[in-house]
Amino acid sequence: MSMFGQVYVKDNQYKIKGDFHHLTPNQPIRDADGWKLLGVTNPRDMTYIHSYGGEAVFFESLSQGKLMATRCDNPKCEAQGTIYQPFRIHCMDCLRKCTVIDMTDLAQKTAKIHTFMVCERSGAFSILDKPIKFINVEFDGVATILMGYLSLGDPKIGMSVVPIFKRTSPTYTILDLSWVPSGTPEKRLPEGFSY
Ligand SMILES: [Zn+2]
Repeated sequence: MSMFGQVYVKDNQYKIKGDFHHLTPNQPIRDADGWKLLGVTNPRDMTYIHSYGGEAVFFESLSQGKLMATRCDNPKCEAQGTIYQPFRIHCMDCLRKCTVIDMTDLAQKTAKIHTFMVCERSGAFSILDKPIKFINVEFDGVATILMGYLSLGDPKIGMSVVPIFKRTSPTYTILDLSWVPSGTPEKRLPEGFSY
């Protein structure tokens, strides 16, 4: 049995297997001068069940090398035809469910760095290599801007970039999508990533 809990859905219900938490012994917290007891540590290790709902297709598609967006196709909506990336399940103007579209080709041809931020430090549990080059990516004909990270090279405003996908051992998270400067040879891509 896996050390971590596993989940699948059958008949629209979660079926869970394995351990979702582990009991780990606590430790006293003592004053270094005098060894007076001040408290205890309470180690916590739990597996959180995070549901993707209507966004699941976005993450599944990343693992297949596809970037999905959504578009409002409601003829009565002022925003009809507007494409959203990041993926919006519902149109914010008319609240109707958007249509899921494949914008991989559009991203390959038109993605540009709108702006960027280079972070020398990161928050807890970040597994990205530092410095992290966060980029805001814009696309022709898309109303919104996507936050991502540049895996190779130095970001510049207006620079053309192309998406890369972690198709080998995908994590099914947003980390499966990254960006590199246009024209980067495939053999230079980070491990597990391809165009
Ligand atoms: Zn709409």
